[in-house]
Amino acid sequence: MSRFWSRVVHDLHPYVPGEQPRIADLLKLNTNESPIGPSPRVAAAIAAESGDSLRLYPDPEATRLREVLAHYHNVQPEQIFVGNGSDEVLGHAFAALLKQDKPLLFPDISYSFYPVWCGLFDIAFDPVPLDDALRIRPADYRREAGAIVLANPNAPTGIALTRAQIAGLLADHPDIPVIIDEAYVDFGAETAIPLVAAHPNLLVVHTMSKSRALAGLRVGYAIGHADLIDGLTRVKDSFNSYPLGRPAQAGAIASLEDEAWFQSSRRTVIATRERMTAGLIRLGFAVPPSSANFVFARHADRSGAAIAQALRDKAILVRHWNKPRIADHMRITVGTDAQTDRLLETLAEILARYTGN
Ligand SMILES: *Cc1c(COP(=O)(O)O)cnc(C)c1O
Repeated sequence: MSRFWSRVVHDLHPYVPGEQPRIADLLKLNTNESPIGPSPRVAAAIAAESGDSLRLYPDPEATRLREVLAHYHNVQPEQIFVGNGSDEVLGHAFAALLKQDKPLLFPDISYSFYPVWCGLFDIAFDPVPLDDALRIRPADYRREAGAIVLANPNAPTGIALTRAQIAGLLADHPDIPVIIDEAYVDFGAETAIPLVAAHPNLLVVHTMSKSRALAGLRVGYAIGHADLIDGLTRVKDSFNSYPLGRPAQAGAIASLEDEAWFQSSRRTVIATRERMTAGLIRLGFAVPPSSANFVFARHADRSGAAIAQALRDKAILVRHWNKPRIADHMRITVGTDAQTDRLLETLAEILARYTGN
């Protein structure tokens, strides 16, 4: 706290990222990073942009990256906005599109950065409760709204809406901005990108951090009508014209050019998720069907906080929130097969200790 802070800083409630501690033999299953790593082509492309060219500013419009993304997703480059991680893309979208006269709607349990941006940009919001099975019910959004943002699959539940359900939501709300945050879509959900053509109010946000294993490079993007993208670009150019450095632009392009690596890594994660889910269910956990690279698990008899702490004592980190409705859950990232074995064996030990058998 400092008397030199501006008023807005005093009133902020900043996002708390999952921790990145230095512990020996640590198994990090708390921030949904990829266990597999990026395509080797990424490192080569970054190396090629890490010499003399660093003297020069990068392309502020990321023209080539936007062309490659447009081709990949079958849209026009004018329909693509790129940013320093999808967090930055979302931040700009909150300022550019979601600050309206009426309140912004998003689920009561969702990405915990959404209320933080509302605080920063002074956006009124109205949390819409998930149903008892922690699902989003699109019909619950038929109410006074200035805009809507949903994560699909939702975080931290991992539960996805179908594209038909998103289309229904868009049919209900033709006149307000709707953002679908598809950070985890590559792990088994249906993307809303095909709906962009018919819905000028739809913005779909993707990240390269999860399914492309590039959390450290910081690349995210949005796809929508060119007029929406213009709005985001106006905010970006009022804040930082060069959000993506040369290595990031080059690395992102290289990742998109290695489709085989991308497909094989996401299939591996999906297969391990199914094995991990079965193992957790055998240990007495309830696990809603996940379309993400994590599961949201709750044990029948033990509290989420107790299990998360016991795992931590064994150098395994998972994410736990002391929040109403989800305090008994843990969000566990899908790791490698060997990491999943270690997780399940450690959980079996911990739970045997509790029940004394
Ligand atoms: C991880 C995540 C993001 C942000 O990803 P970046 O690393 O900033 O690209 C955005 N939304 C959700 C729901 C996420 O889980």
